[in-house]
Amino acid sequence: MNLILLGPPGAGKGTQARRLEDTRGLVQLSTGDMLRAMVAEGGPLGQQAKDIMAAGKLMPDELMVQMIAERISKPDVTNGFILDGFPRTVAQAEALDKMLADKGLKLDHVIEMKVVDDILVDRITGRYTCAKCGKGYHDTFEKPKVEGVCDVCGSTEFKRRADDNAATVTTRLSQYHEQTAPILPYYRDRGVLKTVDGMAEIDDVTKQIEALLAA
Ligand SMILES: [Zn+2]
Repeated sequence: MNLILLGPPGAGKGTQARRLEDTRGLVQLSTGDMLRAMVAEGGPLGQQAKDIMAAGKLMPDELMVQMIAERISKPDVTNGFILDGFPRTVAQAEALDKMLADKGLKLDHVIEMKVVDDILVDRITGRYTCAKCGKGYHDTFEKPKVEGVCDVCGSTEFKRRADDNAATVTTRLSQYHEQTAPILPYYRDRGVLKTVDGMAEIDDVTKQIEALLAA
């Protein structure tokens, strides 16, 4: 089973992908990781990629698709893959489909974790953790039982991630929408686009995804 999982930063996409790796033996393929690995291996494709990056140019679609083709031919990808970070344009989506078809494969599902931007921003920007034990809290949704004291370890020091501020999160969200907007209609037209409620609880999202995959 071959999937694309689409979800903005902060919607728990990584968690869902890891669960799919565990439950279905899928391999998550991040194009960034693949590129780095390919360059490190130093084969002909890797050398080409290295030269392109050194020149500060964009990777051509063809090279990206070839890289994915090589990666999914490796023996660990027997049960299928979850592709992350690609495609981002219709031309890339078409090239990917063609490459898969040539291998007798296809994308089975493109799963979009739909979110409500404003609410997601609230969720992310309210997050903080105990500085000592790492227990996660939230300004609105998960306060410590005693204000300013960690439930788990009693510490009174907490920290926030610098990039969890509203401006950063809003920027990341709009980048995500820009990147996915072109390919959503493409996959919708081909009947493979499915939507789950990305605002639901993590376990509930997993259930929704499992239900889609089982259908
Ligand atoms: Zn603590």
